[in-house]
Amino acid sequence: MVKVYLKRKISPRVANGHPWIFNNEVDKTEGDFKGGDIVEVFSHDQKFIGKGYINPQSQIIVRLLTRSKTDEINEAFFLKKLTECWEYRQQLGYTENCRLVFGEADSLPQLIIDKFNDYFVIQTLALGMDVWKPALVKAINTRFKPKGIYERNDVPVRELEGLPQQKGFLSNEFDTKIIINENGLKFLVDLENGQKTGYFLDQQDNRRAIQHIVKDAEVLGAFTYTGTFEIHAGYYGAKSVLGLDISENAVKQANENARINGLENICRFETANAFDVLKQWGKEGKKYDVVMLDPPAFTKSRETIQKAITGYKEINLRGMKLVKPGGFLVTSSCTNLVNADLFLQIIDMAAKDARRKLRQVVFQTQSADHPIIRGMENTHYLKFLIVQVQ
Ligand code: SAH
Repeated sequence: MVKVYLKRKISPRVANGHPWIFNNEVDKTEGDFKGGDIVEVFSHDQKFIGKGYINPQSQIIVRLLTRSKTDEINEAFFLKKLTECWEYRQQLGYTENCRLVFGEADSLPQLIIDKFNDYFVIQTLALGMDVWKPALVKAINTRFKPKGIYERNDVPVRELEGLPQQKGFLSNEFDTKIIINENGLKFLVDLENGQKTGYFLDQQDNRRAIQHIVKDAEVLGAFTYTGTFEIHAGYYGAKSVLGLDISENAVKQANENARINGLENICRFETANAFDVLKQWGKEGKKYDVVMLDPPAFTKSRETIQKAITGYKEINLRGMKLVKPGGFLVTSSCTNLVNADLFLQIIDMAAKDARRKLRQVVFQTQSADHPIIRGMENTHYLKFLIVQVQ
């Protein structure tokens, strides 16, 4: 097997368990290889570190799959890993829907598998994982006997790995508009054309966190996608709920979700640019008991981090102004580069400008099926905050 030797002076990151090896950390390689091959990685003094896949086209040249010398990377390996992932999710109480595999956090770098009851959505975001797609499909079939598997590799990040963007069936064709159950509610999921893998499972635990504050409330939601938070609000006893999203498709599906849950008289969704509408309504002096914000990631690169900070400040300032004194703001950020401390600082700046005092109710992160690995910053990406706005 091809051997990769690391330089003497590398950061302790790899030794401490991080699975990435950067180009400039490699001293030399022994043997011929092509992108996607499995290689063995050694320290400068010949100590075995692990096995992983290599792609010389990527800045992260190797991503480790195992630290055990005896592990063979083959079909059986992936079946075993998927079984472990499922056992962990079950142990945490997930029964129907979950992120079954969360990439690096499950030691399966750049692999995402979402389980929506009997349906599975896969993303293989690196070449070295993409070559194992048939093995992954086989493992899902063996372990779950699913009704369908769908590939959502229509993501630009694949191009950095020299991979095409693509989507399609990895099983017999099936109707890709499915219904899932969450917290006693039903939600339509469009596996083929929905955003990301079709549904934001990472907020599934957080949706329950609004239960008490929305009772009898007039609720405004912005960046609602298919209305999951807003329909939970209706279910938990809100008086009225208005949801806004810029995507017409999302709004259509959100209204449909309200209808299939018998909440169409409480929850209403409209197409709008939340930045504009929130500003306008603030000027008009509109007020709500609860305002909920869940915008998309504002940046993926450090160069534009300031833009993200400005965006979060802006939208949260506008949101706070719409909250009645004593009401609540429910606000999220999924921008990886805006860490929890920075997010809270931005919220504090917005409160200062809005001249409002905040009382923290909960500050949480992504649901537990998206594990955070201590020491791996980028596995911790979601910030979810509820504050009372005084
Ligand atoms: N809360 C949702 C996820 C929201 S994802 C859930 O838990 O399922 C972010 C949403 O913001 C997307 O649906 C996207 O269409 C929407 N969006 C992006 N820019 C927007 C804008 N300027 N105004 C309103 N919605 C916007």
